This record gives sequence, structure tokens and C-alpha cells, in this order.
Amino acid sequence: MALVNTKKMFEMAYSNGYAVGAFNVNNMEITQGIVSAVAEEKAPLILQISRGARKYASMSYLRAIIDVAVEENPDIPIVMHLDHGDTFETCKQCVDDGFTSVMIDGSHQSFEDNIKVTRKVVDYAHDRGVVVEAELGQLGGIEEDVVGVEDVAAHLTDPDQAIEFIEKTGVDSLAVAIGTSHGAYKFKTAPTLAFDVIEKIQEKVPGYPLVMHGSSSVLKEFKDLINKYGGAMPDAMGVPEEAISKAAKMGICKVNIDTDLRMALTAKIRQVYSETPAEFDPRKYLGPGREAIKQMVKHKLHILGCAGKAAECA
Ligand SMILES: [Zn+2]
Repeated sequence: MALVNTKKMFEMAYSNGYAVGAFNVNNMEITQGIVSAVAEEKAPLILQISRGARKYASMSYLRAIIDVAVEENPDIPIVMHLDHGDTFETCKQCVDDGFTSVMIDGSHQSFEDNIKVTRKVVDYAHDRGVVVEAELGQLGGIEEDVVGVEDVAAHLTDPDQAIEFIEKTGVDSLAVAIGTSHGAYKFKTAPTLAFDVIEKIQEKVPGYPLVMHGSSSVLKEFKDLINKYGGAMPDAMGVPEEAISKAAKMGICKVNIDTDLRMALTAKIRQVYSETPAEFDPRKYLGPGREAIKQMVKHKLHILGCAGKAAECA
């Protein structure tokens, strides 16, 4: 199967009450860990690439790695998605590069300007069979060069604006701010997500796929390993997995996960460095890191409810 866009996936996810995992890739080991997990769990997959990833690994390397993943897993529908495109030009470049889905993040602009740039990306992408995700409302935290707001509760997505935005832009999916936060240092205490925002949008546009960013759980297992082996990650909480499962049943069709991947890889590398300080073969620490990513992703697929759903999304 060639790369697909998210249309069928989101239709299935919406009507059957699950979400598809969107995992950020930066190199071969991370991609392999994710892909082997979905292959075993028979889950649909969104591989997403940020501008930072394009800068770090170069698009041609990432594309080649993803092409192999697609070729080796003909039963798994795989989407190549741009995470947080900042301008029309970036999105256009990615559409031209063969992405099957792009995000235009105009959430820091005025409502009108966000509509304008999103509409422009939608027009360009739709003509080429590519779907578009936009964002309305603002998240907290920091992810690469995406800097969030201090007070997440004050920047939640306004459901009425969301409906107007969807109508005026024709965008295929919308990332909503419901109290989540980017990065590892999300919350001091367990956050309460604004499920009512999801409900209000669903009432007006039933069947419309919504997206959750900043949704890593900051798994304690990895935070403890990192700190045990010389790391210094302050105490922080992510989005509880029960909240993610609940959102997935309510119309959230895509859940972004990056921080948990980073932490799994870092935890294992630190462990190998500490336990066998004489080790200098990169395969001996990247290998366990890749395996940790695989196990973590397998677990997430069950939280999201998309394990076993590859066939119906294809
Ligand atoms: Zn994001």
C-alpha cells in the first residue's frame, strides 16, 4: 500500500470510538520502534515530521526511511504528516514533497488571519489529494519552536469559533485546545481536560474529526529511569491515559505523541551508559532504546483503541 491520507482512518476512528496515534519521527531507530509496534498490533499509523525533524535529519533521509516502512508493511495504512507547519510556503513544500497530510498552525495569529492562511493551504492541498489539519485555541508548554501560553485554561478553543472556522476554511481536521500542554513539563497536578469543548463542537458538526496535541503522558517509568541514571527531570505530570481513552471515544481521532518517545529512548540510553560505562557501540544503546519505544507504542495503541484496526482503515 502506498502512503494514504487520513480520510478513511478518521471516518473509522470517529464512528468506532478510537483515535489513531500520531508519532513524531526524527531518525531510523525511532521510526523502526514505532513501525514494529503497529505491525505487531495491526494498527493504522500517522508518522509525523516537524520542521525540527526536517532540519535535523533532512527530508530525503526521513522520506527514504518512511518509504521502507510502507514497503515492508503492506497491510498497515501509513500517513506522512507535517506537524506544526508555520507558513503556507512550508505546507506547500511538504505537499510537493509527497506528504499526504499537513498541519498549518495559525493558532498564534488572529482568528481572521488563521482562517486566511488555513484556507490557502486547504485550497492548495486539496487539489493534490492531501488533507489539512489546523489549530484553534492555544496550548501550554514548549515543543521545539512552538511556544505555548502560560494559562492554558484561558486559551481553550471556543466551540462557536471552531464551527465558524471549520465552515470558512473547509479544513479536514482541527486541533483543539482542551487543556493539554506540549513537552515534558506539563502540569504540577493531574489536569482536567475540557471535555465539554469536544461535546459542544460535536453537537454542531457531528462526525467532524478533532485532534489532540500535547498528549504525552510523561510516563513515570521513564522519568524514574532517567533520574535514576543521572538525569534531572523535575517532577511533572502528563495527560493521564484514562483521559486520553475517554477523549478518543468522544470524537478525538488523532492523538499526538512525541515526548513519551523521547523519554523512552533517553531512559534506555542512560541506563546502558550507567550500567556498562565501557560500552561504546551505538547499537548497544540505540537498540534497547528502539525496543523501549516499541513496547511503549504498543501500550499506547491499546490506550487509543486503534490496535487491530489497520484493516478497516485501509
Ligand atoms: Zn503540537
